[in-house]
Amino acid sequence: MKPYLRDKVPTALSDIPDNTAYEAGFLVTKNAGWRNIRPVVDLEKCVGCLQCYLYCPDGVISREGNKVTLDYDFCKGCGICKKMCRFGAINMEVEK
Ligand code: SF4
Ligand code: SF4
Repeated sequence: MKPYLRDKVPTALSDIPDNTAYEAGFLVTKNAGWRNIRPVVDLEKCVGCLQCYLYCPDGVISREGNKVTLDYDFCKGCGICKKMCRFGAINMEVEK
Protein backbone atom coordinates (compact mmCIF):
# COMPACT_ATOMS: atom_id res chain seq x y z
CA MET A 1 0.00 0.00 0.00
CA LYS A 2 1.36 3.43 -0.90
CA PRO A 3 1.60 6.19 1.71
CA TYR A 4 -1.27 8.62 1.76
CA LEU A 5 -2.09 11.89 3.43
CA ARG A 6 -4.69 11.96 6.19
CA ASP A 7 -7.56 14.38 5.76
CA LYS A 8 -7.38 15.40 9.41
CA VAL A 9 -4.14 16.90 10.66
CA PRO A 10 -3.33 16.95 14.40
CA THR A 11 -4.51 20.20 15.99
CA ALA A 12 -4.15 19.31 19.65
CA LEU A 13 -1.73 17.30 21.75
CA SER A 14 -4.38 14.65 22.26
CA ASP A 15 -4.46 14.03 18.49
CA ILE A 16 -0.87 12.83 18.60
CA PRO A 17 -0.15 9.22 19.61
CA ASP A 18 1.60 8.97 22.98
CA ASN A 19 3.96 6.22 21.91
CA THR A 20 6.99 6.36 19.65
CA ALA A 21 5.25 5.63 16.37
CA TYR A 22 2.23 6.83 14.48
CA GLU A 23 -0.13 4.19 13.19
CA ALA A 24 0.79 2.93 9.73
CA GLY A 25 0.15 5.38 6.96
CA PHE A 26 -0.29 8.36 9.30
CA LEU A 27 1.20 11.08 7.16
CA VAL A 28 0.11 14.66 7.48
CA THR A 29 2.40 16.19 4.92
CA LYS A 30 4.44 15.27 1.90
CA ASN A 31 7.87 14.39 3.23
CA ALA A 32 10.23 14.65 0.31
CA GLY A 33 11.00 18.38 0.47
CA TRP A 34 14.48 17.86 1.89
CA ARG A 35 15.56 15.20 -0.63
CA ASN A 36 18.64 16.20 -2.64
CA ILE A 37 18.89 13.16 -4.91
CA ARG A 38 16.12 11.12 -6.46
CA PRO A 39 15.95 7.63 -7.96
CA VAL A 40 15.10 7.45 -11.63
CA VAL A 41 14.10 4.13 -13.18
CA ASP A 42 15.45 3.24 -16.60
CA LEU A 43 12.45 1.42 -18.02
CA GLU A 44 14.59 -0.17 -20.74
CA LYS A 45 16.65 -1.97 -18.10
CA CYS A 46 13.89 -2.69 -15.57
CA VAL A 47 12.78 -6.33 -15.68
CA GLY A 48 10.05 -5.95 -13.06
CA CYS A 49 11.68 -8.20 -10.45
CA LEU A 50 10.30 -5.97 -7.65
CA GLN A 51 13.40 -6.15 -5.44
CA CYS A 52 13.33 -2.37 -5.15
CA TYR A 53 9.67 -2.57 -4.13
CA LEU A 54 10.44 -5.10 -1.42
CA TYR A 55 13.28 -3.08 0.09
CA CYS A 56 12.02 0.50 -0.14
CA PRO A 57 11.64 1.55 3.51
CA ASP A 58 8.94 4.06 2.65
CA GLY A 59 6.76 1.87 0.46
CA VAL A 60 6.74 4.38 -2.36
CA ILE A 61 7.46 1.98 -5.20
CA SER A 62 4.56 0.27 -6.89
CA ARG A 63 4.06 -1.97 -9.84
CA GLU A 64 2.82 -0.60 -13.13
CA GLY A 65 2.39 -3.43 -15.62
CA ASN A 66 5.76 -5.20 -15.80
CA LYS A 67 7.66 -2.16 -14.55
CA VAL A 68 7.74 -0.03 -11.42
CA THR A 69 6.78 3.52 -10.67
CA LEU A 70 7.84 5.77 -7.80
CA ASP A 71 5.85 8.23 -5.74
CA TYR A 72 8.17 11.21 -5.44
CA ASP A 73 5.91 12.91 -2.92
CA PHE A 74 7.15 10.49 -0.28
CA CYS A 75 10.48 9.12 -1.56
CA LYS A 76 13.26 10.35 0.73
CA GLY A 77 16.09 9.63 -1.69
CA CYS A 78 17.89 7.11 0.51
CA GLY A 79 19.16 5.11 -2.48
CA ILE A 80 18.36 1.66 -1.10
CA CYS A 81 16.38 0.84 -4.23
CA LYS A 82 19.43 1.59 -6.37
CA LYS A 83 21.59 -0.66 -4.21
CA MET A 84 19.08 -3.51 -4.44
CA CYS A 85 18.61 -3.35 -8.21
CA ARG A 86 21.04 -5.82 -9.70
CA PHE A 87 20.02 -4.86 -13.22
CA GLY A 88 21.35 -1.33 -12.88
CA ALA A 89 17.94 0.08 -13.73
CA ILE A 90 17.91 2.78 -11.04
CA ASN A 91 20.11 5.85 -11.08
CA MET A 92 20.24 8.51 -8.39
CA GLU A 93 20.03 11.98 -9.93
CA VAL A 94 20.56 15.32 -8.29
CA GLU A 95 17.34 17.23 -7.62
CA LYS A 96 16.91 20.21 -9.88
S1 SF4 B 1 14.92 -3.85 -8.76
FE1 SF4 B 1 15.47 -2.91 -10.71
S2 SF4 B 1 14.83 -4.37 -12.28
FE2 SF4 B 1 13.80 -4.94 -10.39
S3 SF4 B 1 11.79 -3.89 -10.50
FE3 SF4 B 1 13.20 -2.53 -9.39
S4 SF4 B 1 14.05 -1.17 -10.98
FE4 SF4 B 1 13.13 -2.93 -12.03
S1 SF4 C 1 15.31 6.28 -2.71
FE1 SF4 C 1 14.67 5.19 -0.82
S2 SF4 C 1 12.62 5.99 -0.37
FE2 SF4 C 1 13.05 6.52 -2.50
S3 SF4 C 1 12.19 4.87 -3.74
FE3 SF4 C 1 14.36 4.36 -3.34
S4 SF4 C 1 14.34 3.07 -1.49
FE4 SF4 C 1 12.35 4.12 -1.60
